[in-house]
Amino acid sequence: MTGMEDNNVLTSTQIVIEDALRKLGYGDDMVELLKEPMRLLTVRIPVRMDDGKTRVFIGFRAQHNDAVGPTKGGVRFHPDVNEIEVKALSIWMSLKCGIANLPYGGGKGGIICDPRKMSFRELERLSRGYVRAISQIVGPTKDIPAPDVMTNAQIMAWMMDEYSRIREFDSPGFITGKPLVLGGSMGRESATAKGVAIMIDEAMAKKNIPVNGARVVIQGFGNAGSFLAKFMHDAGARVIAISDVNGALYNEQGLDIEDLMDRRDSFGTVTNLFKDTISNDELLSLECDVLVPAAIENQITASNADRIRAKIIVEAANGPTTLEATRIVTDRGILLIPDVLASAGGVIVSYFEWVQNNQGYYWSEAEVDLKLREMMVRGFNSVYELHAMKKVDMRLAAYMVGVRKMAEAVRLRGWI
Ligand code: NAD
Repeated sequence: MTGMEDNNVLTSTQIVIEDALRKLGYGDDMVELLKEPMRLLTVRIPVRMDDGKTRVFIGFRAQHNDAVGPTKGGVRFHPDVNEIEVKALSIWMSLKCGIANLPYGGGKGGIICDPRKMSFRELERLSRGYVRAISQIVGPTKDIPAPDVMTNAQIMAWMMDEYSRIREFDSPGFITGKPLVLGGSMGRESATAKGVAIMIDEAMAKKNIPVNGARVVIQGFGNAGSFLAKFMHDAGARVIAISDVNGALYNEQGLDIEDLMDRRDSFGTVTNLFKDTISNDELLSLECDVLVPAAIENQITASNADRIRAKIIVEAANGPTTLEATRIVTDRGILLIPDVLASAGGVIVSYFEWVQNNQGYYWSEAEVDLKLREMMVRGFNSVYELHAMKKVDMRLAAYMVGVRKMAEAVRLRGWI
């Protein structure tokens, strides 16, 4: 898709991690330790399918580093899950936790599967099988999973139940993103999108663009993209385009977001219900104030970065912009709010959920929202100030803020 450009998400993460650690004054030993997860478990999960046959699924759990505290991060169910992606995602989780100043390192898991082609009961057996396979290395004080692409509160409930049965005590703090009745937190489902909306507010203030009437384009209409569309619409912005895996909808006057939310399916697809669509590539180059990639990796690359006509890019997805594209859009004066900052809302409210589970005392949605805003804005200010002071791009600044607490914890523990 992009000629000679290297789109390997792990290599590009390692380049920025190394750059960040060197700028913070650390040497080869720290780079060597933090450029890869300290642990990666690969498991084979036998699952009895509805037709009576057994299928073996491959799953992973990566733990980047636990110097700061237990590791934390989602579990992805997707046909394209692979070792490299899981490793990169675990490092990104460390950076998000570092930027938000949470007492965690990063973790991530995934299973190679296509939930769209599995029944409810097959998904339950797969979720329980995964927990049995990784139970040795996870737990409320070791590594705490959560939802990610194509996993949801029901899957978290099965996983929590399986873990509680194995340990023989109720363990709500084992996993976050649970349904409310099982110890979930108010505001968790829409937390990522709410965090992204807060970042859009901050970025627009820096660019002196009023939110009211601003033109917003969102790629992806799943958990992150659809809630964000609603928040931006409610705040008075004009969401002029959204997309899913099949294509994009565009209306310069603003789309009817509530209608689209009602009509989308649980996998975030809606554009197939319409005749008049544009492509995802066309969507990315629409003229707008804010462009939000909220779908998958490697969408803004060296081959389309010079066609982007947004004033601000806010990365709700993980890894949507390559390093070369980051350089191109930054040079063009576009303000880029990187993934490890912009999409930290999910892990922040997951942290609140874990705290509430540990206390057995639950907060109101208003309390969650207030604390989320405080943490997101503090993260934004640290990254923006470092970017301005050290004259580094926003991604490098975010990595520097994200990794410094972990490196300091490693040093203080005497590991290096
Ligand atoms: P989701 O599965 O709910 O939705 C994904 C959306 O992207 C769907 O609308 C899908 O149709 C669309 N999509 C898939 N492939 C596409 C393609 N090739 N082109 C255009 N659109 C495509 O996932 P989600 O939870 O909304 O996550 C989206 C992104 O945000 C991911 O990168 C995820 O890692 C990141 N993220 C999510 C959370 C969260 O709490 N949900 C937190 C942090 C980061």
